[in-house]
Amino acid sequence: MEFGTDFLKLGTDQLKDLYQELQEKYNEFKSQNLKLDMSRGKPCPEQLELSMEMLDILKSDEQIIAIDGADCRNYGGVDGILEAKELFAQILGVSTKEIILGGNSSLNMMFDTLSRAMLFGVRKGEMPWGKLPKVKFLCPSPGYDRHFAICELLNIEMITIDMNHDGPDMDTIEMLVREDDSIKGIWCVPKYSNPDGTTYSDEIVDRLSCMKTKARDFRIFWDDAYTVHHLTDTPDQLKNILAACKTAGYPNRVYMFSSTSKITFPGSGVAMLATSEENVNSIKKQLGIQTIGPDKINQLRHVRFLQSLDNLNVHMKKQAAIIKPKFDLVLHHLEVDLGGKNIAVWSKPNGGYFISLNTLDGCAKEVVNMAAQIGVTLTNAGATYPYGKDPRDRNIRIAPTFPSIHELKLAINVLCVCVQLISIKKILG
Ligand code: PLP
Repeated sequence: MEFGTDFLKLGTDQLKDLYQELQEKYNEFKSQNLKLDMSRGKPCPEQLELSMEMLDILKSDEQIIAIDGADCRNYGGVDGILEAKELFAQILGVSTKEIILGGNSSLNMMFDTLSRAMLFGVRKGEMPWGKLPKVKFLCPSPGYDRHFAICELLNIEMITIDMNHDGPDMDTIEMLVREDDSIKGIWCVPKYSNPDGTTYSDEIVDRLSCMKTKARDFRIFWDDAYTVHHLTDTPDQLKNILAACKTAGYPNRVYMFSSTSKITFPGSGVAMLATSEENVNSIKKQLGIQTIGPDKINQLRHVRFLQSLDNLNVHMKKQAAIIKPKFDLVLHHLEVDLGGKNIAVWSKPNGGYFISLNTLDGCAKEVVNMAAQIGVTLTNAGATYPYGKDPRDRNIRIAPTFPSIHELKLAINVLCVCVQLISIKKILG
């Protein structure tokens, strides 16, 4: 069979022969007792090595005092230390009065922010969301499975919104929020989105910030997790949504989140929440009940290690140098094995942690199962959609960062064989 032969143009006999050939390859892989994991977007050990110096940066004979005089070893400073706010505010393009630094996880901050909205509401004079008969969230999909899990746990009904090449389908969003006041929010991963790698266009940011919503307490949960995680020297540019919301006259509409999880150490990073000063002040009052302060020693360690935005960007280039070859390898194999066959399309991201693969409709679950049977773990098919249900059963999220190049090569080969086998089955009916 020639490279790139369109499967949809092949006759039944040709497809059957090809199936036989691919089945033999599959059986070969099976005999190798593989144990490979391309399921979660975790940095690999070499990436973690890049930040090891941070562990030596605070010495017991040095002052552990922040520039605002706070003794980082002690309680206090519920919104974080000033120098860390100064550094991380620059990542998100906000002022130090518009940012709260938290603990080790932005997902945790998102969960808390949504939980507080359920318990107390987000705006004076409006009901706590949890007291309403129904709360709905818009979920551009494919999206981040853990956002959807939070909604599921809090009994928030999710509405799937299609993702286009420049962001979510705004026509549908605008139509829905205009008419339904039970729609209280939207999840967005606006830069190098998980999993599509899409960066929202300026137009999408503008439309989100100025759209008319029936709910007066509508909120955008803007998870800018991959804002400095570029894979090229010409990074995507994302318009500042807090500024856009202010211009549109809705300064309190957005909560921006990010963290250093994939800058330094996941699980031991610094999380951040940026929003209007008014929102910051009301959140701080509630946060002060929840905690007497975050881990300021870790914040100080991060500032002394990362130093400045320029230096942080240099650090991220070192990260990219490790993971870019892995993305390139996956993209190369997808092109060689699946290109031109009319059975799959995939993203070619400029940053972030994922490659998103779409098979023919109705194939993703079977592909993932088939790969799992011979020891290759992929993210569950459907996980990138609300309730774990991909309406077209076609999206597979590939996370290339953690496996070694050798493991990745094997895993992507297995995936491509499985995609072809299941596609042929599908075409033959
Ligand atoms: N947001 C997105 C879009 C992610 O992909 C991830 C991790 O994969 C997170 C948040 C987790 O962030 P954190 O480690 O800060 O909790």
